Amino acid sequence: MKFKDTLKDIKTYSAGKPIELVVRDYGVAPENIIKLASNENPHGCSPKVREKISQIVGNMYRYPDDSFFELKEKLSTKFGVKDTNIIIGAGSDQTFEFISRALLEEGDKVLVNRISFAMYDIYAKQEGAVMIKTDTIEHDLDQFKTLYQEHKPKLVYICTPSNPAGDALDKVDVYDFLKTVDPETMVVVDGAYMEYASFKEAKKLIEPKDLIDTFPNCIYTGTFSKAYGLGGMRTGYAIASEEFINSLLKMRPPFNITTLSLAAAVEACNDEEFVTFAIDDCFKEMKRYEDFAKENNFDYIDSYTNFITLMLNDSMNSSEISEALLKKGVIVRDLGSYSMNAIRVTIGTTAENDRFFKIFKEVLGN
Ligand SMILES: *Cc1c(COP(=O)(O)O)cnc(C)c1O
Repeated sequence: MKFKDTLKDIKTYSAGKPIELVVRDYGVAPENIIKLASNENPHGCSPKVREKISQIVGNMYRYPDDSFFELKEKLSTKFGVKDTNIIIGAGSDQTFEFISRALLEEGDKVLVNRISFAMYDIYAKQEGAVMIKTDTIEHDLDQFKTLYQEHKPKLVYICTPSNPAGDALDKVDVYDFLKTVDPETMVVVDGAYMEYASFKEAKKLIEPKDLIDTFPNCIYTGTFSKAYGLGGMRTGYAIASEEFINSLLKMRPPFNITTLSLAAAVEACNDEEFVTFAIDDCFKEMKRYEDFAKENNFDYIDSYTNFITLMLNDSMNSSEISEALLKKGVIVRDLGSYSMNAIRVTIGTTAENDRFFKIFKEVLGN
Protein backbone atom coordinates (compact mmCIF):
# COMPACT_ATOMS: atom_id res chain seq x y z
CA MET A 1 0.00 0.00 0.00
CA LYS A 2 1.29 3.46 -0.78
CA PHE A 3 0.54 5.82 2.07
CA LYS A 4 0.93 9.60 1.79
CA ASP A 5 4.54 10.71 1.27
CA THR A 6 4.13 13.22 4.09
CA LEU A 7 3.98 10.33 6.57
CA LYS A 8 7.63 9.40 5.95
CA ASP A 9 8.85 12.37 7.93
CA ILE A 10 6.55 11.84 10.93
CA LYS A 11 7.66 10.20 14.16
CA THR A 12 4.82 8.38 15.92
CA TYR A 13 3.96 10.19 19.14
CA SER A 14 5.19 8.29 22.15
CA ALA A 15 3.30 9.11 25.33
CA GLY A 16 4.64 8.72 28.86
CA LYS A 17 4.84 5.04 29.83
CA PRO A 18 1.56 3.96 31.45
CA ILE A 19 1.59 2.21 34.82
CA GLU A 20 0.21 -0.98 33.22
CA LEU A 21 3.34 -1.38 31.09
CA VAL A 22 5.74 -0.87 33.98
CA VAL A 23 3.91 -3.63 35.83
CA ARG A 24 4.21 -5.90 32.81
CA ASP A 25 7.75 -5.04 31.67
CA TYR A 26 9.53 -4.60 35.01
CA GLY A 27 7.45 -6.69 37.37
CA VAL A 28 6.95 -3.79 39.80
CA ALA A 29 3.75 -4.03 41.86
CA PRO A 30 1.21 -1.33 40.81
CA GLU A 31 1.10 0.11 44.34
CA ASN A 32 4.85 0.75 44.17
CA ILE A 33 4.70 2.72 40.95
CA ILE A 34 4.60 6.49 40.80
CA LYS A 35 3.89 8.14 37.49
CA LEU A 36 5.45 11.58 37.20
CA ALA A 37 5.61 11.58 33.42
CA SER A 38 2.51 13.11 31.85
CA ASN A 39 1.88 16.29 33.84
CA GLU A 40 -1.35 14.98 35.29
CA ASN A 41 -2.74 16.63 38.41
CA PRO A 42 -1.60 14.38 41.29
CA HIS A 43 -4.66 15.43 43.32
CA GLY A 44 -6.97 14.07 40.64
CA CYS A 45 -9.99 16.24 39.90
CA SER A 46 -12.49 18.16 42.00
CA PRO A 47 -14.64 15.91 44.26
CA LYS A 48 -17.63 17.72 42.73
CA VAL A 49 -16.69 16.30 39.33
CA ARG A 50 -16.46 12.77 40.72
CA GLU A 51 -19.85 13.17 42.37
CA LYS A 52 -21.39 14.46 39.13
CA ILE A 53 -19.95 11.62 37.07
CA SER A 54 -21.26 8.98 39.46
CA GLN A 55 -24.73 10.55 39.22
CA ILE A 56 -24.84 10.59 35.43
CA VAL A 57 -22.83 7.50 34.56
CA GLY A 58 -26.03 5.84 33.30
CA ASN A 59 -26.28 8.47 30.55
CA MET A 60 -23.35 7.10 28.63
CA TYR A 61 -25.57 5.43 26.08
CA ARG A 62 -26.57 8.92 24.96
CA TYR A 63 -24.57 11.13 22.66
CA PRO A 64 -23.60 14.43 24.25
CA ASP A 65 -25.23 17.74 23.35
CA ASP A 66 -23.26 18.34 20.18
CA SER A 67 -23.50 22.12 20.54
CA PHE A 68 -21.69 21.82 23.90
CA PHE A 69 -23.96 24.66 24.97
CA GLU A 70 -23.40 24.42 28.72
CA LEU A 71 -19.63 24.13 28.49
CA LYS A 72 -19.38 27.02 26.04
CA GLU A 73 -21.53 29.07 28.39
CA LYS A 74 -19.15 28.36 31.29
CA LEU A 75 -16.13 29.21 29.19
CA SER A 76 -17.73 32.39 27.80
CA THR A 77 -18.41 33.58 31.33
CA LYS A 78 -14.94 32.65 32.53
CA PHE A 79 -13.14 34.36 29.66
CA GLY A 80 -15.58 37.12 28.71
CA VAL A 81 -15.94 35.95 25.10
CA LYS A 82 -18.98 34.86 23.08
CA ASP A 83 -19.90 31.21 22.60
CA THR A 84 -19.24 31.77 18.89
CA ASN A 85 -15.59 32.45 19.77
CA ILE A 86 -15.14 28.93 21.17
CA ILE A 87 -14.55 25.48 19.73
CA ILE A 88 -14.34 22.36 21.92
CA GLY A 89 -11.80 19.63 21.16
CA ALA A 90 -10.95 16.15 22.43
CA GLY A 91 -8.10 17.71 24.34
CA SER A 92 -6.64 20.95 23.06
CA ASP A 93 -4.62 18.53 20.93
CA GLN A 94 -7.62 18.09 18.67
CA THR A 95 -7.89 21.84 18.19
CA PHE A 96 -4.29 21.84 16.88
CA GLU A 97 -5.37 19.18 14.43
CA PHE A 98 -8.35 21.30 13.31
CA ILE A 99 -6.06 24.32 12.88
CA SER A 100 -3.51 22.39 10.82
CA ARG A 101 -6.08 20.77 8.58
CA ALA A 102 -8.04 23.97 8.03
CA LEU A 103 -5.04 26.16 7.36
CA LEU A 104 -1.99 24.34 6.03
CA GLU A 105 -1.23 23.28 2.50
CA GLU A 106 1.75 21.38 1.14
CA GLY A 107 4.93 23.41 1.53
CA ASP A 108 3.51 25.99 3.97
CA LYS A 109 5.90 26.90 6.77
CA VAL A 110 5.24 26.56 10.49
CA LEU A 111 7.44 28.30 13.06
CA VAL A 112 7.94 26.67 16.46
CA ASN A 113 10.44 26.62 19.30
CA ARG A 114 13.07 23.87 19.04
CA ILE A 115 11.94 22.38 22.34
CA SER A 116 8.20 22.23 22.05
CA PHE A 117 5.09 20.09 22.12
CA ALA A 118 5.56 17.22 19.64
CA MET A 119 2.01 17.35 18.28
CA TYR A 120 2.56 20.75 16.58
CA ASP A 121 5.05 19.01 14.26
CA ILE A 122 3.00 15.89 13.75
CA TYR A 123 -0.20 17.67 12.69
CA ALA A 124 1.71 20.14 10.50
CA LYS A 125 3.69 17.43 8.73
CA GLN A 126 0.49 15.47 8.04
CA GLU A 127 -0.48 18.38 5.79
CA GLY A 128 2.96 18.44 4.15
CA ALA A 129 4.04 21.62 5.92
CA VAL A 130 7.68 22.47 6.61
CA MET A 131 8.87 23.14 10.16
CA ILE A 132 11.06 26.14 10.96
CA LYS A 133 12.64 25.95 14.41
CA THR A 134 14.62 28.18 16.74
CA ASP A 135 17.75 26.64 18.23
CA THR A 136 17.04 27.37 21.90
CA ILE A 137 15.59 25.37 24.76
CA GLU A 138 13.54 28.25 26.17
CA HIS A 139 11.44 30.49 23.90
CA ASP A 140 13.62 33.27 22.51
CA LEU A 141 11.35 35.85 20.89
CA ASP A 142 14.25 37.63 19.16
CA GLN A 143 14.84 34.44 17.25
CA PHE A 144 11.12 34.13 16.56
CA LYS A 145 11.19 37.66 15.09
CA THR A 146 14.23 36.96 12.90
CA LEU A 147 12.93 33.60 11.66
CA TYR A 148 9.50 35.07 11.10
CA GLN A 149 10.86 37.82 8.85
CA GLU A 150 13.12 35.40 7.02
CA HIS A 151 10.55 32.67 6.32
CA LYS A 152 7.14 34.35 6.62
CA PRO A 153 5.48 31.18 7.96
CA LYS A 154 1.74 30.63 7.62
CA LEU A 155 1.43 29.44 11.22
CA VAL A 156 3.37 30.14 14.44
CA TYR A 157 3.05 28.29 17.76
CA ILE A 158 3.95 30.07 20.99
CA CYS A 159 3.73 27.67 23.92
CA THR A 160 3.67 29.69 27.13
CA PRO A 161 4.33 28.25 29.61
CA SER A 162 6.30 25.86 27.50
CA ASN A 163 6.30 22.08 27.59
CA PRO A 164 8.75 20.30 28.06
CA ALA A 165 11.04 23.13 29.27
CA GLY A 166 8.67 24.85 31.71
CA ASP A 167 9.67 28.46 30.95
CA ALA A 168 7.04 31.18 30.43
CA LEU A 169 7.11 34.44 28.51
CA ASP A 170 5.96 37.82 29.82
CA LYS A 171 2.76 39.01 28.18
CA VAL A 172 4.39 42.27 27.06
CA ASP A 173 7.11 40.38 25.21
CA VAL A 174 4.61 38.13 23.45
CA TYR A 175 2.57 41.19 22.38
CA ASP A 176 5.76 42.89 21.24
CA PHE A 177 6.42 39.92 18.95
CA LEU A 178 2.81 39.74 17.76
CA LYS A 179 3.00 43.38 16.61
CA THR A 180 5.66 42.31 14.07
CA VAL A 181 3.45 39.55 12.59
CA ASP A 182 1.33 40.07 9.45
CA PRO A 183 -2.45 39.57 9.71
CA GLU A 184 -2.14 36.68 7.19
CA THR A 185 -0.09 34.62 9.63
CA MET A 186 -1.98 32.70 12.27
CA VAL A 187 -0.42 32.56 15.73
CA VAL A 188 -1.51 29.91 18.21
CA VAL A 189 -0.87 30.75 21.86
CA ASP A 190 -0.96 27.41 23.66
CA GLY A 191 -1.95 28.16 27.25
CA ALA A 192 -2.18 24.56 28.52
CA TYR A 193 -0.37 25.62 31.72
CA MET A 194 -1.48 29.27 31.86
CA GLU A 195 -3.28 28.76 35.18
CA TYR A 196 0.05 27.81 36.77
CA ALA A 197 2.04 30.66 35.24
CA SER A 198 -0.40 33.40 36.18
CA PHE A 199 -0.59 32.04 39.73
CA LYS A 200 3.19 32.32 40.05
CA GLU A 201 3.59 35.70 38.30
CA ALA A 202 0.77 37.95 37.11
CA LYS A 203 2.85 39.38 34.26
CA LYS A 204 2.82 35.96 32.53
CA LEU A 205 -0.97 35.96 32.14
CA ILE A 206 -2.26 36.14 28.59
CA GLU A 207 -6.04 36.41 28.56
CA PRO A 208 -7.83 34.98 25.54
CA LYS A 209 -10.24 37.90 25.09
CA ASP A 210 -7.55 40.56 25.23
CA LEU A 211 -5.36 38.47 22.92
CA ILE A 212 -7.93 38.00 20.17
CA ASP A 213 -9.30 41.55 20.48
CA THR A 214 -5.80 42.98 20.11
CA PHE A 215 -4.53 40.49 17.52
CA PRO A 216 -7.39 38.98 15.48
CA ASN A 217 -4.89 36.62 13.77
CA CYS A 218 -4.35 34.80 17.10
CA ILE A 219 -5.93 31.69 18.56
CA TYR A 220 -5.71 30.83 22.25
CA THR A 221 -5.89 27.18 23.31
CA GLY A 222 -6.57 25.81 26.78
CA THR A 223 -7.30 22.47 28.40
CA PHE A 224 -8.98 20.69 31.30
CA SER A 225 -6.17 18.10 31.33
CA LYS A 226 -3.67 19.83 33.60
CA ALA A 227 -4.79 22.18 36.40
CA TYR A 228 -8.38 20.82 36.29
CA GLY A 229 -7.14 17.24 36.59
CA LEU A 230 -9.17 15.77 33.72
CA GLY A 231 -6.46 14.39 31.41
CA GLY A 232 -8.34 11.13 30.93
CA MET A 233 -11.50 12.96 29.91
CA ARG A 234 -9.85 14.56 26.86
CA THR A 235 -11.43 18.01 26.84
CA GLY A 236 -9.85 21.23 25.60
CA TYR A 237 -10.84 24.35 23.73
CA ALA A 238 -9.69 27.03 21.35
CA ILE A 239 -10.78 30.68 21.48
CA ALA A 240 -10.57 32.93 18.42
CA SER A 241 -12.54 35.28 16.18
CA GLU A 242 -15.91 33.99 15.01
CA GLU A 243 -14.50 33.81 11.49
CA PHE A 244 -11.65 31.49 12.56
CA ILE A 245 -13.94 29.35 14.70
CA ASN A 246 -16.40 28.92 11.81
CA SER A 247 -13.58 27.55 9.65
CA LEU A 248 -12.34 25.22 12.39
CA LEU A 249 -15.87 23.94 13.01
CA LYS A 250 -15.84 22.51 9.46
CA MET A 251 -13.07 20.13 10.57
CA ARG A 252 -14.89 18.89 13.67
CA PRO A 253 -16.38 15.38 13.76
CA PRO A 254 -19.77 15.08 15.51
CA PHE A 255 -19.82 14.39 19.26
CA ASN A 256 -16.03 14.82 19.51
CA ILE A 257 -16.00 14.67 23.30
CA THR A 258 -17.96 12.14 25.31
CA THR A 259 -21.12 12.63 27.35
CA LEU A 260 -19.11 12.06 30.55
CA SER A 261 -16.26 14.35 29.46
CA LEU A 262 -18.69 17.14 28.76
CA ALA A 263 -20.36 16.83 32.16
CA ALA A 264 -16.98 16.64 33.89
CA ALA A 265 -15.68 19.80 32.24
CA VAL A 266 -18.88 21.73 33.04
CA GLU A 267 -18.72 20.66 36.68
CA ALA A 268 -14.99 21.39 36.90
CA CYS A 269 -15.77 25.03 36.07
CA ASN A 270 -17.88 25.15 39.25
CA ASP A 271 -14.91 24.42 41.49
CA GLU A 272 -12.11 26.90 40.88
CA GLU A 273 -11.14 26.48 44.56
CA PHE A 274 -9.91 22.98 43.82
CA VAL A 275 -7.75 24.33 41.01
CA THR A 276 -6.25 27.02 43.22
CA PHE A 277 -5.49 24.45 45.91
CA ALA A 278 -3.79 22.11 43.43
CA ILE A 279 -1.67 24.89 41.91
CA ASP A 280 -0.65 26.27 45.29
CA ASP A 281 0.39 22.81 46.44
CA CYS A 282 2.27 22.23 43.18
CA PHE A 283 4.51 25.26 43.67
CA LYS A 284 5.12 24.41 47.35
CA GLU A 285 6.26 20.95 46.33
CA MET A 286 8.25 22.33 43.39
CA LYS A 287 10.40 24.29 45.85
CA ARG A 288 11.50 20.94 47.27
CA TYR A 289 12.67 19.84 43.80
CA GLU A 290 14.63 23.08 43.41
CA ASP A 291 16.31 22.52 46.78
CA PHE A 292 16.97 18.90 45.88
CA ALA A 293 18.64 19.93 42.61
CA LYS A 294 20.84 22.46 44.42
CA GLU A 295 21.85 19.93 47.09
CA ASN A 296 22.79 17.42 44.43
CA ASN A 297 24.59 19.93 42.20
CA PHE A 298 22.53 19.87 39.07
CA ASP A 299 20.59 22.57 37.32
CA TYR A 300 16.90 22.98 36.58
CA ILE A 301 14.78 25.29 34.48
CA ASP A 302 12.71 27.73 36.52
CA SER A 303 9.22 26.34 35.94
CA TYR A 304 5.81 27.97 35.51
CA THR A 305 4.00 24.65 35.09
CA ASN A 306 3.22 21.50 37.07
CA PHE A 307 6.52 19.86 36.12
CA ILE A 308 10.20 20.64 36.47
CA THR A 309 12.94 19.96 33.96
CA LEU A 310 16.10 18.75 35.67
CA MET A 311 19.24 19.36 33.65
CA LEU A 312 21.62 16.51 34.42
CA ASN A 313 25.40 16.71 34.69
CA ASP A 314 27.73 15.15 32.14
CA SER A 315 28.36 12.33 34.59
CA MET A 316 24.70 11.32 34.27
CA ASN A 317 22.87 10.14 31.16
CA SER A 318 19.16 10.98 30.99
CA SER A 319 18.16 7.76 29.22
CA GLU A 320 20.07 5.54 31.63
CA ILE A 321 18.73 7.43 34.62
CA SER A 322 15.14 7.25 33.35
CA GLU A 323 15.52 3.52 32.77
CA ALA A 324 17.02 2.97 36.24
CA LEU A 325 14.16 4.95 37.79
CA LEU A 326 11.63 2.92 35.81
CA LYS A 327 13.02 -0.35 37.15
CA LYS A 328 12.32 1.02 40.62
CA GLY A 329 8.80 2.04 39.66
CA VAL A 330 9.30 5.77 39.05
CA ILE A 331 8.11 6.97 35.64
CA VAL A 332 9.57 10.28 34.41
CA ARG A 333 10.02 11.76 30.94
CA ASP A 334 13.46 11.38 29.37
CA LEU A 335 14.19 14.43 27.22
CA GLY A 336 17.01 12.65 25.36
CA SER A 337 14.83 12.64 22.23
CA TYR A 338 15.06 16.47 22.26
CA SER A 339 18.86 16.21 22.37
CA MET A 340 18.75 17.36 25.99
CA ASN A 341 20.49 15.55 28.82
CA ALA A 342 17.50 16.21 31.03
CA ILE A 343 14.47 14.61 32.60
CA ARG A 344 11.06 16.17 33.04
CA VAL A 345 9.37 15.31 36.32
CA THR A 346 5.71 16.07 37.00
CA ILE A 347 5.29 17.46 40.52
CA GLY A 348 3.46 14.77 42.50
CA THR A 349 1.86 14.65 45.93
CA THR A 350 4.13 15.10 48.96
CA ALA A 351 4.39 11.32 49.40
CA GLU A 352 5.17 10.75 45.72
CA ASN A 353 7.83 13.43 45.74
CA ASP A 354 9.40 11.96 48.91
CA ARG A 355 9.64 8.68 47.08
CA PHE A 356 11.11 10.30 44.00
CA PHE A 357 13.89 11.98 46.04
CA LYS A 358 14.71 8.73 47.83
CA ILE A 359 14.83 6.61 44.69
CA PHE A 360 16.63 9.22 42.62
CA LYS A 361 19.37 9.32 45.28
CA GLU A 362 19.65 5.55 45.14
CA VAL A 363 19.98 5.70 41.38
CA LEU A 364 22.67 8.39 41.64
CA GLY A 365 24.45 6.16 44.13
CA ASN A 366 24.44 8.53 47.09
C1 LIG B 1 -0.89 18.77 27.89
C2 LIG B 1 -0.65 19.78 26.83
C3 LIG B 1 -1.65 20.16 25.95
C4 LIG B 1 -3.06 19.67 26.00
O1 LIG B 1 -3.27 18.40 26.05
P1 LIG B 1 -4.76 17.85 25.91
O2 LIG B 1 -4.82 16.80 26.95
O3 LIG B 1 -4.84 17.34 24.52
O4 LIG B 1 -5.70 18.97 26.16
C5 LIG B 1 -1.40 21.12 25.01
N1 LIG B 1 -0.21 21.71 24.93
C6 LIG B 1 0.78 21.37 25.76
C7 LIG B 1 2.05 22.08 25.64
C8 LIG B 1 0.59 20.40 26.74
O5 LIG B 1 1.60 20.07 27.54
